[in-house]
Amino acid sequence: MAQARRAHPRSRTDAALSFTQRVVAELAPYTPLLPCCRRSLVEGLALVTSAPGSIATTRPVAVRAAMQTLHADGIPAHVSRVTAARRTQYFVVGVDASTPQAPSERSCCRRSRLRGAFLGAGRLVRPDGEPYLEIGCAGEMGAAQLVDDFDVLGVPARSRRRRGRWVVTVRSGAGVGAALSSIGAQAGRLDFESGRVIREVRSGVNRRLNAETANLRRTAGAGVRQLESIAALEADSVRWQALPPALREAAELRSLHPDDDLAQLAELAGCSRPAMAGRLHRLVAAAGEGGDRVEVPVRRR
Ligand SMILES: [Zn+2]
Repeated sequence: MAQARRAHPRSRTDAALSFTQRVVAELAPYTPLLPCCRRSLVEGLALVTSAPGSIATTRPVAVRAAMQTLHADGIPAHVSRVTAARRTQYFVVGVDASTPQAPSERSCCRRSRLRGAFLGAGRLVRPDGEPYLEIGCAGEMGAAQLVDDFDVLGVPARSRRRRGRWVVTVRSGAGVGAALSSIGAQAGRLDFESGRVIREVRSGVNRRLNAETANLRRTAGAGVRQLESIAALEADSVRWQALPPALREAAELRSLHPDDDLAQLAELAGCSRPAMAGRLHRLVAAAGEGGDRVEVPVRRR
């Protein structure tokens, strides 16, 4: 295996890494302390490998994690590298699969198995995107095992077949957050949570802006209609004189203060807000009755 180039956390290239790569880089250096968990980590890596009885991955960091883990137990595995046209695949050779054991059901081991699987074939959408975590699996059994592991750890996951391959997916914000913590990616969890906040604030602001714009448009439309009505009534002295004094006063206030809202106009007139709304409404109605519906220029001040 090539001499590993250790990426410094938060180095200059860190920002260029995808969220998936950052989480993989965070998980890879950690070798489980307990033998049962080391076995489970290797098991997880094998679950996502399509070559039976071995570990194959395109991720050098995953190979490194597998080798460290195997060597910690004195298993003399080695790596062979196969360079294909588009990418290099690494095979961990010498993993003893002759004594198959039932997968451990201890929760320490479930976490470890999931960590191994994620190292080998996990993917995440960037933190401020739709929450999404997936692990591609070699077969249905492996996918079912990972769903079961997630389930026991309180992470809602499901498996499905996609283009001939099985994938385990987690699609809720709470689920992806819990999954990251479960596999030991605490920095990844923090990244994810801050991205979630950004996403939620962004959608909240958009929602509020849309609502406010709609309100403003409604208010502005009403104001213009009132000013047009008032101009039409004032242009017709007979109708103007026939209006009750309270309506004439409201009309004058509206003309003088075209940008005031209802509450401000009501205060100027010394009446309640609903009363002012009623007067303006009646002005618009009065202008509509028997008018010639001519286009009247808006008089401002
Ligand atoms: Zn364990």
